[in-house]
Amino acid sequence: MAFRREAYGDLGFKMTPQRLAILDYLDGNREHPSAEDVFRAVRRRYPTMSFATVYNTLERLRRHGKVRELTGDPGRKRFDPNTEPHNHIICNRCRKIVDVPEKYRISVDSRHRAGFEITGNNIEFTGVCPDCRKRSIT
Ligand code: ZN
Ligand code: MN
Repeated sequence: MAFRREAYGDLGFKMTPQRLAILDYLDGNREHPSAEDVFRAVRRRYPTMSFATVYNTLERLRRHGKVRELTGDPGRKRFDPNTEPHNHIICNRCRKIVDVPEKYRISVDSRHRAGFEITGNNIEFTGVCPDCRKRSIT
């Protein structure tokens, strides 16, 4: 509940039951859901939920650094409530995303930095998940 309580304090909007349901769904969620995934899940309990509410809440959370936006799925933005530094593996076929808790020491050679001060990196491995591997064997 830490995520929900923390988000409650300083997001700067009125906490409605709908928005709380979105925060509850995200709290501890490791599926890296898209806005559509969140909408589908939360609408089950709140049939009056609008997609705009889901989208705006996710955008607000992102602006406040409470969720990270992942760009590895070309079809749709995916969101990660785990804002600790970590990396990902994404399945080429079903777009499942899992966490890689390992840290990698990599750097950009000064010749290629284009004057940037480097503050971080994001590593997205691509591959085929166990379910999709099973499907391709049979
Ligand atoms: Zn897969
Ligand atoms: Mn993650």
